[in-house]
Amino acid sequence: MSAAEVRGLVREFSGRRVLDGLDLTVDAGEFVALLGRSGSGKSTLLRVLAGLDVPDGGSVSVPGSVAVAFQEPRLLPWRSVRDNVALGLRTDADVDHVLGEVGLTERAGAWPLTLSGGEAQRASLARALVREPGLLLLDEPFGALDALTRIAMHDLVLGLWERHLPGILLVTHDVDEAIALADRVLVLDEGRIVADHAPGPRPRTDVGALRATVLSELG
Ligand code: ADP
Ligand code: MG
Repeated sequence: MSAAEVRGLVREFSGRRVLDGLDLTVDAGEFVALLGRSGSGKSTLLRVLAGLDVPDGGSVSVPGSVAVAFQEPRLLPWRSVRDNVALGLRTDADVDHVLGEVGLTERAGAWPLTLSGGEAQRASLARALVREPGLLLLDEPFGALDALTRIAMHDLVLGLWERHLPGILLVTHDVDEAIALADRVLVLDEGRIVADHAPGPRPRTDVGALRATVLSELG
């Protein structure tokens, strides 16, 4: 069973092929990271997987439910944290449970505009996870956070992933983040996946060689 299967995906904008016959599989419960230069088509791929954009060719199969978290948390400012999370809703108990998991129990009644960047991103993750998605798409979710908050978010996401086991496709421009978190690290270039690495068992301490390889693949 896979969380996502993509075959020969083509997406063009004004005649320019951004995705050019891309193949990708995310197994159920697998954590995959996707690296690629700015403008290489990472967000386009995620939007297609989320059903927010329509491909020009190829096939996309996402058998289960899908949830997305973006770099900007995109919380509704006129609803409390709790009501934002409840939008992805199952039951009150599920909402409370997931708020606890992301450490926002005390902030459940807060307005989004009063949250720190890290808190807002945790609310965004809770909103995505409460639906128990088969596929969780994360588009540079930590890109706007400071370094310390980002490290805390890495631990949080790994813990959430281990408990809920969605398939995850994490788009990031941070090679170290990709290597630290994912089962597989992919590189997108010229519209296709050009490299596919398995960093090995966690925790990962000696990743210098892989880091150098991936950096060279990114050009
Ligand atoms: P990435 O997320 O890797 O930085 P994107 O997927 O956002 O890249 O964009 C890939 C390319 O496709 C860019 O050149 C971007 O300008 C173009 N593009 C993305 N979405 C659209 C759109 N809706 N209309 C026109 N061009 C787009
Ligand atoms: Mg992008």
